[in-house]
Amino acid sequence: MAVLQKRHYQKTVRQVLMLAESYQQMSDEELQQQTQILKDQVNGDQKRLKAVLPAAYAVVCEAAERVLGLRPYPVQVLGAVAMEDGNIAEMKTGEGKTLTATMPMYLHGLMGSGNFLITANEYLAARDAHDMGKLYRWLGLTVASAVPELGQKPEDRDLDTIYQADIVYTTNSTLGFDYLFDNLAKSPQEQHLRSLNFALIDEADAVLLDTAQTPLVISGVPRVQSNYYQSADQVVKLLQEQDDYEISDDLKNAWFTPQGIVKMEQYLDVDNLLTQEWTDLYRHLVLALRANYIQKRERNYVVKDNEVVLIDAENGRELPGMKMQAGMHQALEAKEQVEITPEQRTMATITYQDLFRMFKQLAGMTGTAATDKKEFLEVYNLSVFKVPTNRPNIRKDFPDHLFISNRAKLLATVDVVKAAYQKGQPVLVETGSLELSELYSNLLLKERIPHSLLNARSEVKEAEIIRHAGEKGAITVATSMAGRGTDINISKEVEELGGLLVLGTERMQNRRIDNQLRGRAGRQGAPGESVFYVSLEDKVVTENAPKSIRRFAHRHAHDQQQTLSNHGRFRNAINRSQQILTNQERNARFETLQYGEVSRIQRESIYQTRNWIMQATQLDPLVTMCFEAVAQGFGSKRADWVDDSQTLLEFIYQNVDPDYQSSRDLSGLSNEEQVKVLLQVMQDRLQVMHQQLPHQDQWIYFERLAVLRAVDQGWVEQVDQLDMLMQVTKSRSIAQVNPIFEYQKEAQKAYQTMREHIKLQVVRNLTNSDVIPQPDGTVDVEFP
Ligand code: ADP
Ligand code: MG
Repeated sequence: MAVLQKRHYQKTVRQVLMLAESYQQMSDEELQQQTQILKDQVNGDQKRLKAVLPAAYAVVCEAAERVLGLRPYPVQVLGAVAMEDGNIAEMKTGEGKTLTATMPMYLHGLMGSGNFLITANEYLAARDAHDMGKLYRWLGLTVASAVPELGQKPEDRDLDTIYQADIVYTTNSTLGFDYLFDNLAKSPQEQHLRSLNFALIDEADAVLLDTAQTPLVISGVPRVQSNYYQSADQVVKLLQEQDDYEISDDLKNAWFTPQGIVKMEQYLDVDNLLTQEWTDLYRHLVLALRANYIQKRERNYVVKDNEVVLIDAENGRELPGMKMQAGMHQALEAKEQVEITPEQRTMATITYQDLFRMFKQLAGMTGTAATDKKEFLEVYNLSVFKVPTNRPNIRKDFPDHLFISNRAKLLATVDVVKAAYQKGQPVLVETGSLELSELYSNLLLKERIPHSLLNARSEVKEAEIIRHAGEKGAITVATSMAGRGTDINISKEVEELGGLLVLGTERMQNRRIDNQLRGRAGRQGAPGESVFYVSLEDKVVTENAPKSIRRFAHRHAHDQQQTLSNHGRFRNAINRSQQILTNQERNARFETLQYGEVSRIQRESIYQTRNWIMQATQLDPLVTMCFEAVAQGFGSKRADWVDDSQTLLEFIYQNVDPDYQSSRDLSGLSNEEQVKVLLQVMQDRLQVMHQQLPHQDQWIYFERLAVLRAVDQGWVEQVDQLDMLMQVTKSRSIAQVNPIFEYQKEAQKAYQTMREHIKLQVVRNLTNSDVIPQPDGTVDVEFP
């Protein structure tokens, strides 16, 4: 299969190269005219792109040479062909993925707007939009970078111009937030994103896997402050592990035992903690449980100036201003006994998985994808296609060096750096966290070895430092992901010294990232070396290895002989520990996906409704439907009918007309009669509103606003509910039930309730608002 595929791709590549050669004869004007010719052939039909692919790619090849001075290598054309066929092209670092991407991007640009190149950070988006933009513009396409320019605020971007462009360079988070904000818009004029046709994702593994666990969240108005945080924290601190609560093997989850529940009921003096009545208290207990026994100070967060500051798990950086959602942050504040900050509501949220699955067509490229082939296929329906390197790779990947103690390992690596430094060979020291980077930096200082430390001030600075990491005598200390996507050049002289040496100081969370790090050396057939130094005290090992290994490490921590053989049980233990971590992360992503599935369906339905409302020219049938549903609902809730005109009047005062005065006596009415009266009152009120806004334009404007607001009120509430619900169900105490199934059931119920709320809110907004018509056709509305 793969062989066939490859042969097929090769055939297309030959076609492209032949055409490109013939295009050399064309004048600049002729070549530029090809864009229009191709556009005419495609004529806005995505299915015809395949047919023009060879010609389009050939145009890019020839134009790239003329405009950028770069002629794509055959392997780059191959990568571009594979990407158009639903693949993630695995192309090693330095193979020129930026240029490769211009072929599919140009091809899709022929269809007009809706095509995105997604990069891992803002610096790369701006850089590539600028560099490659010259090529697209020369060929007559429009291109934009969607990330804010230096010093620009995100809200000051000209979003209409940006998203009208045929090709947009952006980051995953910029795109995600713009998408969410688009769906909080009040009118189509406030929406900027057009269709989501094609996304080509650079560093696809970083974007699709490494960032995929954390959903994008827009927070809004603070929630009413709860006073449960402290009491929940106090109670939970009294519990005993095993007896009262349990922690999952991967240390990521905790739940109460039945005994724990009973204990808490006693402390709190409540009857049945698991009933509806105590849902909110129970939620706080769950949060407190996780805050106290899952979240670890100094690893997940630090406390600074009486504030809880989160830490990026990947690189150990502090994340000032970032907060955990759905009350988790407040639970941590209670645990650490600092002031509890206002809790923000989640207003809109989406996972990266869902964001990217909305595109009609996806493609990706990265140096490292093959290890996670299965997940790409399962989640994104993308295959991985390995593209050979342009020149043979001659990098030497040495086997790991194993040590017992961390200390012994550190000293050995410093010796390696010293030796390289003395002969002038550049070294890139890669660590798993910022903390370790700093430690290294100190060790090197003591040895008087000058070096650069990537301290993560900014992406631009990181890129600048990494760019020079291949120079003679350069020693650079960096965390694993820092400066990704920046090209490291080496000189002839450095080549003769063996090229860049990548020194991994511990195994990273998965093999893929290890490979990514190795890939920084030996690009484009240049010499280079890579080696990992690992110890039994590394984070990956201590957290995941069996007890026997940890005991061994402990017993022999001070032995004279610290090196271990790279064969047999220790290497296996290290590999397995890494594998455990890899699996955990994959499982967490699948869990996110499964939980996200419910909110995805609900979100899509709501967003569709919103869009429909914003464009609607006739909302009366919808309004009538809401009125009837609300009136019927009022009736059915009172099935145990008592002659109670007071309830009816209160409902009217509250929701329809605060100044209502009945022209007749309402006592003694049957249930059905009450429903009729209610409906009539609503319709009368609507008439009164209509009289104030006699122009059809103003009336529909008001209706749209009122209905949209009702939908948003309901949905924002629902999003927040779902978020809290997820927190609670993830740690349900009853072991037998499948939490995801529970969540889906509850979420479905909450959705129905939301629909009822929305209808009532439609009634309220339409009958009970103050309206002032404006000269420009709009209406100033004060909603109830
Ligand atoms: P990658 O993203 O695959 O790591 P880049 O796109 O950053 O690689 O490109 C690495 C370097 O190779 C850049 O300096 C780029 O200009 C150069 N390059 C890419 N393609 C070509 C080519 N066809 N001919 C010459 N140089 C190229
Ligand atoms: Mg790149």
